[in-house]
Amino acid sequence: MNLSYWEQKSWFSNIDFTIVGSGVVGLNCALELRRMHPKARILVLEKGKLPQGASTKNAGFACFGSISEILSDLKTHSEQEVFQLVQDRFDGIQSLRTLLGDNAIGYQNNGGHELFLNKDVALYESCLGQVEYVNGLLRPVFGKDAFKVLPNRFKFSGINGNYISQIYEGQIDTGKMMYSLLQLSYQKDINILNGTEVNSFEDTGAEVLVKTDNMDFTTNKLLIATNGFAAQLLSENVEPARAQVLITKPIKGLNIKGTFHLEEGYYYFRNIDNRILLGGGRNLDFKAEETTEFGNTHLVQNKLNQLLKTVILPEQSYEIDYNWSGIMGVGQQKKPIIKQVSDNVSCGVRLGGMGIAIGSIVGKNLANLIA
Ligand SMILES: Cc1cc2nc3c(=O)[nH]c(=O)nc-3n(C[C@H](O)[C@H](O)[C@H](O)COP(=O)(O)OP(=O)(O)OC[C@H]3O[C@@H](n4cnc5c(N)ncnc54)[C@H](O)[C@@H]3O)c2cc1C
Repeated sequence: MNLSYWEQKSWFSNIDFTIVGSGVVGLNCALELRRMHPKARILVLEKGKLPQGASTKNAGFACFGSISEILSDLKTHSEQEVFQLVQDRFDGIQSLRTLLGDNAIGYQNNGGHELFLNKDVALYESCLGQVEYVNGLLRPVFGKDAFKVLPNRFKFSGINGNYISQIYEGQIDTGKMMYSLLQLSYQKDINILNGTEVNSFEDTGAEVLVKTDNMDFTTNKLLIATNGFAAQLLSENVEPARAQVLITKPIKGLNIKGTFHLEEGYYYFRNIDNRILLGGGRNLDFKAEETTEFGNTHLVQNKLNQLLKTVILPEQSYEIDYNWSGIMGVGQQKKPIIKQVSDNVSCGVRLGGMGIAIGSIVGKNLANLIA
């Protein structure tokens, strides 16, 4: 794009901070930079017309980890690391609620429930046997016992008679949350340019040259918050992971309320506006879902349909309204990567499946890395 003198002067001169990615991390990073630097010129570059990764596509669970997920994490992480992950998720959700307000993000604390299919009796027994231990480990985070055994009151079919529930788990309206975050960013004079993809950058030591599909310009600092797309700009250990979701049409008399986890978190569903939103199934073909391409597959959608019909809504008639997908950034470790990659470039990526919870803290920490 051939920039005019005016465009050059008003949009692309003397930029203090440029953030790549307008997801929950990028916007929280921009807002934290604004708090620390009231007069700075802050630019956010976003390749999509809307944020186009995970932040506007997710299921809106404000969650801390189901019992089986925490026990599974304890196999690959130390107790201290797992404790810290949960603490960060808790702090992150509080931070998001404080920043935007519960109304603006549609926050509700309806509890989160892990369901165990009848075939998973061994997993249920093993989780049940460790509820007390996990409650003890996490008591400093929640102040009380977070996990409780509750009966199958929503009458799901083909599952154990009890759930193991996380009573502090909540849900948000993802669209409202991202809309509010964008509105707050505009109010704080953060310039967001959509439809602008960063192709490469070069840290010269004094500043950073940023090359986009439209134009090139320089910035004092560059902060990369591209999560699942991180490998396109950075050599960090982040793999893309597509997640597919469907939503039903509104269902008359739907009484299901809360967030639900199935098969060690590979499936998840919730109520929203008298509908059921259901996602998951990456485990059916990890290789195919390791992609930055949006899309839905028959394999996953058929499985989601089957779960709806046989487990979630066995006695209710419903219609599927539509489906979509989003791209997450994952790795062997659950911990996000927040680091300086060169003198003037830093990144905050690899949010996994918990970006709602930790996104605000990751964004803040990214901003504080270079402050
Ligand atoms: C279907 C689904 C369900 C999920 N459910 C939950 C849930 O219930 N609870 C929860 O806590 N988490 C959930 N997650 C995970 C959560 O949404 C993510 O962890 C979080 O949104 C990540 O935020 P982010 O800002 O790091 O990344 P993103 O939101 O992906 O933002 C990165 C942005 O960078 C942009 N970008 C990438 N490359 C470039 C480039 N080169 N130039 C310019 N822009 C670029 C992208 O377009 C994107 O908008 C879910 C994710 C998915 C996909």
